[in-house]
Amino acid sequence: MSRLAVYPGSFDPVTRGHLDLIVRTCRLFDRVIVAVSNNPSKKHIFSVNDRIRMLDDNLKGNKQVEVDTFSGLLVDYLHARKAHVIIRGLRAVSDMDYEFQMASMNRSLYPDVETVFLMPDERYTYLSSSMVREVARMGATLDAFVTPSVRQTLKRKYKGQG
Ligand code: ADP
Repeated sequence: MSRLAVYPGSFDPVTRGHLDLIVRTCRLFDRVIVAVSNNPSKKHIFSVNDRIRMLDDNLKGNKQVEVDTFSGLLVDYLHARKAHVIIRGLRAVSDMDYEFQMASMNRSLYPDVETVFLMPDERYTYLSSSMVREVARMGATLDAFVTPSVRQTLKRKYKGQG
């Protein structure tokens, strides 16, 4: 039986930290669905299509990975995809509170689900999409944080601002 994991998130935009986690997940699981959340109550700077495209650009060629989108409850999506594992990242202790709440809630909604937490390479411990957006808005160099294709997309987004 092939082992399947779902890595959900906003990916607004995808960073080198997210990509590092996907590589680690591929070592543990046969297949990974990167599930881009499409939640209208959450403010994103990139549309769901842009967020998917940036992931696709960086993951094409990796046959273990599929990029998809979901709206509504994550556990309903897992159910529909017959998946039982959620991947989430833990950077610093500051992530713990929120991630534990989410994992407990998901487990009570869907007892067959396990949340697996992975740590990124230490270079990415302090990296988040929100920090990338902030740095991009100021026009600073982003090479250490995002791949060239994401950098280009950010550049276009913030052109003429800042
Ligand atoms: P969400 O809005 O669901 O938190 P994000 O795209 O911000 O979406 O994050 C998705 C997941 O990836 C979360 O579990 C988050 O902790 C993890 N993550 C984000 N950035 C990093 C990083 N630099 N290293 C490891 N995990 C990360």
